Amino acid sequence: MTTAIVVGAGIGGVTAAVALEQCGWQVTVLERSAELGEVGAGISVWPGAAAVLSELGVKGIADAARPGGSAGMRRWDGRWIVDAAGLGIEMPVMIHRAELHRLITDRLGPAVTIHTGTTVTGLTQDANGVTVTAGRQVSGEPRPGDQQPGDQEFRAELVIAADGIRSGIRGLLYPEYQGPRYSGYTAYRGIAELELADEGGETWGRGQRFGFAKLIDGRIYWYATANREAGGPDDDLRERFAGWHDPIPALLAATPAVLRNDIHDLRTPLVPFVQGRVILLGDAAHAMTPNMGRGACSAIEDAGALARVLKENKDLLAYDAERRPATTKLVRRSHSIGVLGQLDNKLACKLRDAVLGLGGKAAGLLAKRRRVEQSPV
Ligand SMILES: Cc1cc2nc3c(=O)[nH]c(=O)nc-3n(C[C@H](O)[C@H](O)[C@H](O)COP(=O)(O)OP(=O)(O)OC[C@H]3O[C@@H](n4cnc5c(N)ncnc54)[C@H](O)[C@@H]3O)c2cc1C
Repeated sequence: MTTAIVVGAGIGGVTAAVALEQCGWQVTVLERSAELGEVGAGISVWPGAAAVLSELGVKGIADAARPGGSAGMRRWDGRWIVDAAGLGIEMPVMIHRAELHRLITDRLGPAVTIHTGTTVTGLTQDANGVTVTAGRQVSGEPRPGDQQPGDQEFRAELVIAADGIRSGIRGLLYPEYQGPRYSGYTAYRGIAELELADEGGETWGRGQRFGFAKLIDGRIYWYATANREAGGPDDDLRERFAGWHDPIPALLAATPAVLRNDIHDLRTPLVPFVQGRVILLGDAAHAMTPNMGRGACSAIEDAGALARVLKENKDLLAYDAERRPATTKLVRRSHSIGVLGQLDNKLACKLRDAVLGLGGKAAGLLAKRRRVEQSPV
């Protein structure tokens, strides 16, 4: 039996734990939060990640997949810039984060032990394995390298650092690495308790965007962005989006709790994702802006790639060779979409919308031609 420690029980960490257990490994998961779970927001699961989950036996995602309804991009007054219905675009499954996390953890078996309320603060590795130091009674925000009374040691042959965008393990292994950079905008998210026929889409304005989508349980997940300094007080979203098309004001009014995240990413690629016996996975390795809704999906795909490498007994660097190029592209593309989406100059926005509108029309014509060519005569 081989042993692994997974640091962090976010979506990436728990998927890695399921994958490692299914490869025959004994897994210890160390999570600093007192309880397992996820925040109250929706998440898109794209087909690549859904395929990994299905291979791991995670139920409830594939069954929930359905063709998307209306989607695309609108102006603040509701006029379509790009109407994506009929473009044949691949659509993700939209699910509540807590539900996705639960579906994954439901697959954890007896070879996985989870320690919550356990904050990893140190790590050393030698030829035979890795020793991880973790504290249980930490006051304030712990820093990697801090020793606290009551520290525990865990040892395994492999460590998966799935400790998120502010990964302490990344900080220990790559002290020179620049770390997360602020994108210039903040994001708000919520779940609205509202019946809606409109399937969703995104609305682009000047320096702010609003998107919404129906979750598989029928509730509406929405998100909004706004150009602003990091930190500082929250925006009054009803005021910010006042006058925007239906159902945006109604969604905001029907939302009991709003989450806010200043958006950062790891724009400078981390090289490599593997250091000896430590593997970085998910946001710890390649945090991206949420503009493509692929961060958690990439973490899931990382776990799938890691499982393949272990099953095929390949060098761990094969994981880096597969995952770094793929995720570097996503980080860059996602950053660029954010730059375009958050433009706030009036003329630049008009030009952007016109160019995207033309692109959408061209894509629509191509999709129509494809359908005609493929239809039986
Ligand atoms: C607004 C917004 C919308 C998004 N929408 C989508 C979307 O629709 N689709 C999508 O695929 N992605 C989306 N993402 C990205 C996605 O949320 C992240 O990429 C994903 O959650 C990363 O998962 P992770 O497991 O790598 O890290 P995290 O979810 O950050 O988990 C890290 C875990 O490690 C724990 N931890 C940290 N430090 C320690 C320590 N020292 N010791 C022990 N435990 C520790 C933390 O408590 C946490 O539980 C979005 C992100 C944002 C901000």
